[in-house]
Amino acid sequence: MKKLDKFLTEVGGFLPAEQVRTDPDSLSYHAQDWSRVLTPNASAILFPASTEEVSKILKSANEHRIDIVPSGGRTGLSGGAVATRGEVVLSLTKLNHIGPIHEGALTLQAGAGAITEAVHKFCEPHGLTWPVDFASKGSSTVGGNIATNAGGIRVIRYGNTRNWVLGLTLVTMDGTIHTFNSELEKNNTGYDLRQLMIGSEGTLGVITEATLKLAPLPKETQVLFFSLKGFPELIGFFNACRKTFPELSAFECLDHKSLESVTEHFKIPFPVETAGEVYALMEVENTSLSSLEARLEKILEDGLILDAVIAQNEREKKSLWQYREGVAESILHGSLVHQEDVSVPVAKLPEFYSTILKRYQDALPGWPVYFFGHIGDGNLHIFIKKPETMGHFEFQESARKSDHELFEILKHHKGSVSAEHGIGLLKRHALHFTRSGPELEIMKGIKKTFDPNGLLNPGKIFS
Ligand SMILES: Cc1cc2nc3c(=O)[nH]c(=O)nc-3n(C[C@H](O)[C@H](O)[C@H](O)COP(=O)(O)OP(=O)(O)OC[C@H]3O[C@@H](n4cnc5c(N)ncnc54)[C@H](O)[C@@H]3O)c2cc1C
Repeated sequence: MKKLDKFLTEVGGFLPAEQVRTDPDSLSYHAQDWSRVLTPNASAILFPASTEEVSKILKSANEHRIDIVPSGGRTGLSGGAVATRGEVVLSLTKLNHIGPIHEGALTLQAGAGAITEAVHKFCEPHGLTWPVDFASKGSSTVGGNIATNAGGIRVIRYGNTRNWVLGLTLVTMDGTIHTFNSELEKNNTGYDLRQLMIGSEGTLGVITEATLKLAPLPKETQVLFFSLKGFPELIGFFNACRKTFPELSAFECLDHKSLESVTEHFKIPFPVETAGEVYALMEVENTSLSSLEARLEKILEDGLILDAVIAQNEREKKSLWQYREGVAESILHGSLVHQEDVSVPVAKLPEFYSTILKRYQDALPGWPVYFFGHIGDGNLHIFIKKPETMGHFEFQESARKSDHELFEILKHHKGSVSAEHGIGLLKRHALHFTRSGPELEIMKGIKKTFDPNGLLNPGKIFS
């Protein structure tokens, strides 16, 4: 009997049959994420419904030397949840309980499989929120958000996911169930293992439950959309807004090509009458429209803005957000896309942007290249779509070759090759541009401590 069959027979002894799938459709569906450039290849999909079931599965997999890929909403863009070499996918989606909430402590218990947006909806009637927010929130899960230390649209005000997790229940590959930090706000008793797990991309342990930290829901928000002549004006405008609006909660950007992609894909009109080279979406919390307009007037005197729209009601706010949140989906729809998710210190953005823009124009003339991102925290997404006339292989080879120069430029600017999407399978070759050799050795040592047999999400982060 092969080791996989022995493992599945053992698992069948404690996991109900409907929680195990091996049919071809399930295998290809659950072995893939939103990056969609890798060929899925999984042996089985397991759906545990409790921490205890996760523990039994991992213990058995460790004994039988079975590779396991933890999986949440599979909205990842680095191939972190993709099974490519016959691994067993461990989907945490059944662990989707939410609550109880503690309004004094500002905490919420949530299962790893709880959908991010469902957590927001649960907190709303309590006047609270979990401020981890981005376009894929309708499908992404709490476990995936924690495993990727997700960023998103409100990082300039709230920081990344790691700021909003108090405690973790996590299972290591030998089946041990750990509780890291429980619900403590203060706990200076040695290394913070909870923080080590956050952003570890499912390579050290499987998160089954978390105590999330909550923030008050803003009473009022204002949303504005601007068109600007170019990137230097955008950064000048951002600097002015940062000084003028301490309540700034989002400052996002998209170039003209990205805006065209959204308007065409969702069949919606341009939000502004005067087109620019680049656009900004700004959100300010706890500020009335009149106070916002009064303060904005002074900035507008500088002449950085070509055109502006201020949302007058909730419906208009949602509509303006769609122009930014719809960008990735509109580009990814039905196309092969090479993606970059880079960051540089905010002060270095204008120089970085003009260097890479010229570089893409020279290296990939006429290619559809899109720039957008969370510019307030120095994070730029660069999506390169396969030109229609080019073959898949030729496209992937050319795009990969162009990466090298981009990463050298990033290194020069002390930037990161993955700002928020993680390393997964797709950014492994680039890791050394951002992390030093000695750092990588420490990371590999940590991986060995938690997973000595190298069975948990194998090949992710490191080869
Ligand atoms: C349209 C779009 C917009 C996006 N915008 C943003 C953005 O603004 N900011 C951002 O940071 N990301 C963004 N993403 C990427 C993605 O949504 C995030 O990385 C998200 O946190 C992934 O959550 P998930 O549940 O889908 O995880 P998955 O894709 O299922 O998994 C991601 C990684 O986490 C691991 N993992 C999943 N669950 C667990 C668990 N319970 N225990 C241990 N490991 C686990 C997986 O093995 C994998 O390595 C976007 C994606 C899309 C498609």
